[in-house]
Amino acid sequence: MIVSTQKPFEEILAALEGGSRVFIIGCAKCATVCKAGGEEEVFRMQEALTAAAKEVTGTMVIDETCHMPRTARDLRSRRDQVDEADFLLVLSCGAGIQSVAEASGKKVVAGTDSRFLGNIRRFGQFEQRCSLCGDCRLNDSGGVCPVTVCAKGLLNGPCGGMEDGACEVDRNNRCAWVTIYERLERQGRVGGLDAITQARDFAHKRHPKSLTLEK
Ligand code: SF4
Ligand code: SF4
Repeated sequence: MIVSTQKPFEEILAALEGGSRVFIIGCAKCATVCKAGGEEEVFRMQEALTAAAKEVTGTMVIDETCHMPRTARDLRSRRDQVDEADFLLVLSCGAGIQSVAEASGKKVVAGTDSRFLGNIRRFGQFEQRCSLCGDCRLNDSGGVCPVTVCAKGLLNGPCGGMEDGACEVDRNNRCAWVTIYERLERQGRVGGLDAITQARDFAHKRHPKSLTLEK
């Protein structure tokens, strides 16, 4: 899921300057799970904006703001309240915010910062395990991502800073390459680490990316 966090309220208020009427939009998927833009956060934002002398023309939590046709359809269903607003304040990931901007053509304020693609460890705790590099190396690393879990993204680790299994960048974290070694050792595959892993294909970093499936 996309992990996002709400921007500080003062920053949101500053972005809303020049208008008094606001329509607030949340997302029922990732932003709800990470408590950045679900029903509860939208309600709290409505209360906070009202207390700050803004008029909230309406609120809605769209099922999946990154789904562009559905977002456009849902916004049309509330056209009066949307049209009445000076700003649409969106509490979703950056992809969802852009869906709203494109579908509405109105001034959109991002109420969140999109942080990373996250695994859910437990409720309210998220961990980055994949950076969507487009050239997956998990087959060679025992299912532990060296690009993301190693603080330096090294494909041939560990670096000289590893100490007692801890990462030099943050001693609270285990060195990814120690975890990789231990995992491969348990699987009897540690010999594969003798080979130098070739550099990734950085052409995959080019963006914007798109994908159209064959029918
Ligand atoms: S190598 Fe890591 S960052 Fe790249 S796709 Fe695989 S898991 Fe994701
Ligand atoms: S100590 Fe390990 S995880 Fe940390 S940067 Fe070096 S190789 Fe990567």
